[in-house]
Amino acid sequence: MIFSRRTATREPPEGAVGVGPAAAPLVTDGPLVSLRNLERFYEAGGTRTYVLRNITFDIALGDFVSIMGPSGAGKSTLLNVLGMLDSGWSGEYTLAGQQVHRLPHKARIALGRRHIGFVFQQYHLLDELTVAENLEVPLSYRDVPKAERQALVADALDRFGIVGKKDLYPRQLSGGQQQLVGIARAVIARPAVILADEPTGNLHSSQGREIMAMFRDLNAKGTTIVQVTHSEENAAVGKRIVQLRDGWMT
Ligand code: ADP
Repeated sequence: MIFSRRTATREPPEGAVGVGPAAAPLVTDGPLVSLRNLERFYEAGGTRTYVLRNITFDIALGDFVSIMGPSGAGKSTLLNVLGMLDSGWSGEYTLAGQQVHRLPHKARIALGRRHIGFVFQQYHLLDELTVAENLEVPLSYRDVPKAERQALVADALDRFGIVGKKDLYPRQLSGGQQQLVGIARAVIARPAVILADEPTGNLHSSQGREIMAMFRDLNAKGTTIVQVTHSEENAAVGKRIVQLRDGWMT
């Protein structure tokens, strides 16, 4: 069980410990995300291989999009671009009115840290930090005071059922436990946008359903979510599906 009965049945007041600090407001007249002719290729041995081709679509504030398609279709690449983790692409990417394609690298990183929580397929926890310290990282980007940070971390540990792991290092956790920490880290600062790459791939099915229920709840409260998934069940939690094949939207 990931969430305690207390947290599962009681609706915490807005801004209370448990839901984290209020999400940084994202105000925009148009779509939250706008992609125009986004392209990404890799070059090896003089050969150019396209991984994303002419990706053009919008994501509205409050949307819940599932990106699906066969392995190698470009799903993770697209999510990484959306998450400001990849800058080797061309085309236009606008996030809440900010033209990401015109922003210098540092400004992109800052924009991502401010608004986006990212769940990595391979967790990407910081090896030299404990579980509790990993959870503190996104809060430190938001200048949350130390005492509040500690309260939020304690609550997240409780909600995700990992209190007993707080002083362990990532290498001392199972894959599923690392995935839970990765999800907790992505949501702890209440980002306006959650990008999740196969978020339940290493969880037991019941844990996976609880995570998807949490995503549904966050989305109902206004969080925009984009997930990469192979699971029809998980995709059904979202509002719409974007299909990729060989880098193209189909
Ligand atoms: P998916 O998430 O749909 O399985 P990915 O986005 O991970 O697909 O990868 C899409 C394609 O891009 C794959 O063919 C993969 O081999 C290729 N690719 C990803 N990263 C690199 C890289 N660093 N160098 C070369 N090719 C890459």
